[in-house]
Amino acid sequence: MNFINLCKKILSFIYPNKCIYCKNIIEYDKTICGKCISSIRGKSKLIKISAENFPHTLCVSAFKYDDYVKSAIWQFKFHGMQYYAESFSEEMYIGVSDYFKDVNFSYISCVPLHESKLKKRGYNQSELLARFLTKKLNANFVPILIKNKNNLTQHELSFSKREENIKGVYSINHNIYIDKSKNLLLCDDIITTGNTLKECIKTLKENGFNNIYCVTLAYV
Ligand SMILES: [Zn+2]
Repeated sequence: MNFINLCKKILSFIYPNKCIYCKNIIEYDKTICGKCISSIRGKSKLIKISAENFPHTLCVSAFKYDDYVKSAIWQFKFHGMQYYAESFSEEMYIGVSDYFKDVNFSYISCVPLHESKLKKRGYNQSELLARFLTKKLNANFVPILIKNKNNLTQHELSFSKREENIKGVYSINHNIYIDKSKNLLLCDDIITTGNTLKECIKTLKENGFNNIYCVTLAYV
């Protein structure tokens, strides 16, 4: 046992380690209990995203956004539970390994936040997921997309207004060099209508990126 794990074990006697979903007490080195593993796994899904005139892009989503996981994702996105990213990314990694097992990813990127939102929240939850996936897939993290416009929050709008709201908000970060012939995995937290990823894919494809795949933590 290394020093960090020893500290975690000692700390767990004072502050018991809890499952991020059901909050039951678990071993100091786990983030999820056995019951929750069997409840959330096996629900991954492959989704096709069509971005205007381009061929569809495949997106794997790790689990269903249901009552079981809602609270944990909410805590992760809005209440500073950044360390949940490690556990969430493991589920995403399992999905990527299942559905894209023959694909070698050179680059991982994420849906960006607008600078003002990033300052307010302090972190981009999709970037945290992407960075853990980068380690698991032995790839390079590349912040290739920039969000130019601080538009209204997608999940606060009706489905009919979401497509219009997201149009033209992303651009390419030209300070990053990428070999466009290699595979890029684009990461986001939740897919609902798919409009956010669709707009990101469109921006990438218009700029010559053709080998794009997507992964999200959950689907609605
Ligand atoms: Zn649990």
